[in-house]
Amino acid sequence: MTAERSPLAPDLETEWSRAVKALDGAAEICLACHIRPDGDALGSMLAVAQALRARGAPYRPPGGSVPPRIVASFGELPFRIPRILRFLPGADLLSPPDAFPVRPQVMMTFDAASADRLGMLEASAARAEELIVLDHHASNTSFGTVNLIDPAAAATAVLAYDLIVRLGVPLSRDIALGLYAGLVTDTGSFKYSNTSPGVHLLAARLLGTGIDPGGVAHELWDRTPFGFLGLLSAALGRAQLEPAGPGGHGLVWTTVTRADRAANRLPFEAAESVIDVVRRTDEADVAVVLKEDDEGQWQVSARSKGAADVGRACVALGGGGHSRAAGFTAHGTAADVMTALRQQLAAGLGASARSAGPGAGGRPGAADSGR
Ligand code: AMP
Ligand code: MN
Ligand code: MN
Repeated sequence: MTAERSPLAPDLETEWSRAVKALDGAAEICLACHIRPDGDALGSMLAVAQALRARGAPYRPPGGSVPPRIVASFGELPFRIPRILRFLPGADLLSPPDAFPVRPQVMMTFDAASADRLGMLEASAARAEELIVLDHHASNTSFGTVNLIDPAAAATAVLAYDLIVRLGVPLSRDIALGLYAGLVTDTGSFKYSNTSPGVHLLAARLLGTGIDPGGVAHELWDRTPFGFLGLLSAALGRAQLEPAGPGGHGLVWTTVTRADRAANRLPFEAAESVIDVVRRTDEADVAVVLKEDDEGQWQVSARSKGAADVGRACVALGGGGHSRAAGFTAHGTAADVMTALRQQLAAGLGASARSAGPGAGGRPGAADSGR
């Protein structure tokens, strides 16, 4: 059974064949997902890594053939798997980016819309003989030699599933778990308007391998150290509502500083879920959280309910994402960063105005996936 999705464009079909051919012929396959990985990036990569391992040697000519070596990483040091993703199987296939081949024969990227999202593995991508890009961001720059990019896919995990089917690898529970983590992360647990019938069909197929959905949700969203309550209260306490925000649709924003994290002894990743609370604000179409990382840069998360195109604004500011969920990296004061963002949101209004009633069904290309 395959997930029900819109038929692939013929050129994408060619790209699939090229991808499978490149993987078939490889002695070594190097996988990389975007830095500060989320459930879709790491889940998709670990699912494919495990599928490639399970597949072994694709051809068995007389004399036998050797299974390819599988390398999987993401480009940041220290190399730390985010706490909420440590339940994902296949982490034994991961290695730090400084052990990643400098000139891979075949490299594959997951959920990265541009090469810079690979962090320190960007250089390996630039030198790879064959670079297969697997992604669902409309803002993808097609930086591969093979580009499997489908903005209609709710998550990269949907494309990773298609790849695993094309590789002829049976779906084990462990492989399915990575894909399921990607699917629930990017659909906000089937809440966002990218939740299509095909998404539910795929979820059913994945759950059929024996995954406990309650257990996954608990790991991803229902666990936090006590200090998170202090961080959340500080961030929410300084949230600002601008009712006249972009086009009069309202803007709400706040910051999570290094000091907030230090006071509560929390790593950067603890700030990631603050946007999920801030975005509930009814009076605001756009929600923004500026998260200060350990280097003192702002990692900005932006969300829209449909009036503004935050993807466009974030791309203009050097970032990327989807129309309803996007981000960028910035320096300077929080006030300056917000001024720049307000300008870009205002500039994009009109061109991006679109209706998005809950009953209307999301446009496939307008995925508002969380990550
Ligand atoms: P986040 O707010 O981190 O959950 O990310 C939302 C979306 O924006 C995802 O599709 C990310 O890939 C994208 N995104 C977030 N931060 C950046 C960034 N600094 N550069 C490019 N894309 C980003
Ligand atoms: Mn994604
Ligand atoms: Mn992602």
